[in-house]
Amino acid sequence: MPVLADEAAARTVTGIGVCAGIAAGRVFHLTEPITEPSPGLRLGPRADHRAEADRIETASDRVQAALVAAAERATGQHTKEMLEATAAMSADPMLVSDAQRRVTEEHLVAERAVWEAAESVKKQFQQLGGYFAERTSDINDIRDRVIAELSGRLAPGLPMVDEPYVLVAPDLAPSIAATLDENLVLAIVTDGAGPTSHTAIIANAKGIPAVVAALGATEQLRPGVTALVNGSSGVVVASPSDEQVASALKHAQVVRTFDGHGHTKDGHAIAILANVGDTASAREAAAANAEGVGLFRTEFCFLDRTESPTVNEQVEQYGELFAQFPDKKVVIRTLDSGADKPLPFLTFDNEENPALGVRGYRTAGRAPELLDEQLEAIAQAASAHPSTDVWVMAPMVSTVDEAEAFVESCSRHGLNTAGVMIEVPSAALLSSHILASARFASIGTNDLTQYAMAADRLMGPLAQYNDPWQPAVLQLIDAACKGGKLNDRPVGVCGEAAANPALAIVLVGLGVSTVSMSPRAIPDVAAALAAVEYKKCLEVARTALQARNAREARRAVRAALPELAALGL
Ligand code: PEP
Ligand code: MG
Repeated sequence: MPVLADEAAARTVTGIGVCAGIAAGRVFHLTEPITEPSPGLRLGPRADHRAEADRIETASDRVQAALVAAAERATGQHTKEMLEATAAMSADPMLVSDAQRRVTEEHLVAERAVWEAAESVKKQFQQLGGYFAERTSDINDIRDRVIAELSGRLAPGLPMVDEPYVLVAPDLAPSIAATLDENLVLAIVTDGAGPTSHTAIIANAKGIPAVVAALGATEQLRPGVTALVNGSSGVVVASPSDEQVASALKHAQVVRTFDGHGHTKDGHAIAILANVGDTASAREAAAANAEGVGLFRTEFCFLDRTESPTVNEQVEQYGELFAQFPDKKVVIRTLDSGADKPLPFLTFDNEENPALGVRGYRTAGRAPELLDEQLEAIAQAASAHPSTDVWVMAPMVSTVDEAEAFVESCSRHGLNTAGVMIEVPSAALLSSHILASARFASIGTNDLTQYAMAADRLMGPLAQYNDPWQPAVLQLIDAACKGGKLNDRPVGVCGEAAANPALAIVLVGLGVSTVSMSPRAIPDVAAALAAVEYKKCLEVARTALQARNAREARRAVRAALPELAALGL
């Protein structure tokens, strides 16, 4: 029987696709967090204290066995090591014996006794400091697992299941997201989280199809139902028909590759570049045939450093990366420190509002010698790799003066292709002046969106604002492209927006000549661009600019691009 349109719509949840790919599987939710058992929970006078204390030992043994089994099953090295470490800690008798004493001597019920014993163990660890102090979150984890076992509940956090599943959650804490096993989790759907959240970044790194900001997902996608997830279009179908699943998975099986020449259907060239932060991602980018690097996040090389890196160290790091892209372009960004990426040697740690503080290029005012040293290192590494076409750009530029000063600093070091990132609305609006001195611009849509919408890019509940389909953001991109055209300077996009096939088409229509993204997104974006004529890019860009909100922009553009559905994107 045909499915009625209303019925079909009721079974569909739409969010923002942040990692392309199609998957279908049974839904599992994150299990409920454990809350503190009431302090008043005591055993009655006739209770069997010994039996209650024994329950704790049994529960602890079961938790340990489950952790050992999960560690054995885990395929990711990091996940395996984390689970092994937690299993080893859960074998320590300290927590169990302390909790048992609280049952026999203070007559607490087992759950409350475990909670109080964990508090006491954590205090001791904190007093020991160093390595032990950092283990307190592991104690919380073991405590919650033992209490869940005692009360017959599921262990909190990720479901402990053996079959591959679709994970549905309100949002994912970074600690949980980091332990996701890509062999078990077929897809991720969250009510909250934004396109630039940790969930999105980790899903991308692990290649798990993901849809974020799918309002109502946990309500509509109940545990046990089958969900069909499209991580590109952002559409999730609950209880899909067998035909829907078969047809969607047929597309998913197509393994796309990129031949290294980005273009529209009618041959309009669009360079498809990669975002990288270390040599591993650079290798991935080279293997994906990226036409070069559109964003080398140099701060990622030094995130764990308390002291600034020396010029020689930097020459080595940058040189290693340049070496992977002979005869290709590499756009290297100077340190983008502050807010979500603090570098202890460069950023203030007492700012009340660090996203609006001394970050990005502004740190050059605080430590001009660091910028000078970095430019010197880039120049040295570039001259050691003369076949690499090295471009340099500054992050978070917001005034014309900053752009001019940066170009001037670069030219003192012989770096003549100096540009800026456009991540602040003021830079987009002033692009005609900025691009009179800057040789190129690269639009950082992650930050441009958060600043245009005044919405912290890391806050899950603000995901609806943090959407690069917001017409206000598209209008700023349009303004930036017009500044480029006026000065005959290239403008690219290196924010996550470029990794979305439909949005990449819109960006090209707005006048962008390069798109840069995480290497995994390259084949799909290349296929999407190759499926549409340049004229169509211009048309959908106009459509998106005229929309009243992000939802309308996304819907109207997708409706105008049946080519994407045909590609399963
Ligand atoms: C951006 O803001 O879009 C960008 C590419 O920079 P980052 O994500 O590193 O802040
Ligand atoms: Mg940025």
